[in-house]
Amino acid sequence: MKYYLVFLYIFTASFLFNLTISKQQENLFDQSKRLTHAIIHGEVHGNGTLPIEDKNSYLLVELRLSRDDRPRSIARNKIKFNNNNNNNNNITTQSFTLQFKLKYPLSKISPHNSYILSAKILNNQNKLIYIGDLHVPITERKNEQAKYLVINVIKTPSWYNNIDKLSLLAYKVTQWGGTEEAFTSELYTNKKSGIYTCVVCNSTLFSSKHKYNSGTGWPSFYQVAIEGNVATNIDRKYGMTRTEVHCAKCKAHLGHVFDDGPQPTYMRYCINGVALQFYSDENEMK
Ligand SMILES: [Zn+2]
Repeated sequence: MKYYLVFLYIFTASFLFNLTISKQQENLFDQSKRLTHAIIHGEVHGNGTLPIEDKNSYLLVELRLSRDDRPRSIARNKIKFNNNNNNNNNITTQSFTLQFKLKYPLSKISPHNSYILSAKILNNQNKLIYIGDLHVPITERKNEQAKYLVINVIKTPSWYNNIDKLSLLAYKVTQWGGTEEAFTSELYTNKKSGIYTCVVCNSTLFSSKHKYNSGTGWPSFYQVAIEGNVATNIDRKYGMTRTEVHCAKCKAHLGHVFDDGPQPTYMRYCINGVALQFYSDENEMK
């Protein structure tokens, strides 16, 4: 984890916007009573132009599961930029410092899951301006925690607006980790040669070269097109342990991978067709 944070710090230094979160956990109750909640005390620092003239712009800090239950936060806090009651917040057009507290119930923290502290800055129409994610080690029920964590906050990526344009099914699959019905995707029987990209961010994920008929009803591949563009996570939903597959770039859920595929990899990437966009080689020639 330490190595990861060092890497993250170096990585972050190349971006304009850094958020430093000083974090400590405190016991809300008497030592004699059971510890039920913890608080993250944070301070967010950044440099850049913020819509401070807009009274309803705000920073949203959320603690949530790192992957497939993405929209479900364990705790969230909204901090308005123009909050006169909070004198600790210092904002100019060049930089900002925002303090926040995030209280979360320890009952919702499982040692089997990993968590993310995410920061978003939104304007009065809830349009995203900046985002940042940080994996946080909060599974231990201890007071000792990392004191300084760095969130990597970047300008809203270009693909972010594509999420709004998805069909309801594509949204449920890619953003909520859902599954389309078997045999419903045209891409299941697609035998044309070409590439399959992410429906959200257009990153190249799979190739027709590795596609095969698995008989399952979902587009299946025995390997990914470009190593590193597809990432995995352990999924323990529904009492099963499976390996979830998502787009490394935009985190869109794609499907699952199993080890009952054909030669030479013996892998079966079982992918929702609705999470993919197909580009045939023929079209590219034109
Ligand atoms: Zn993607």
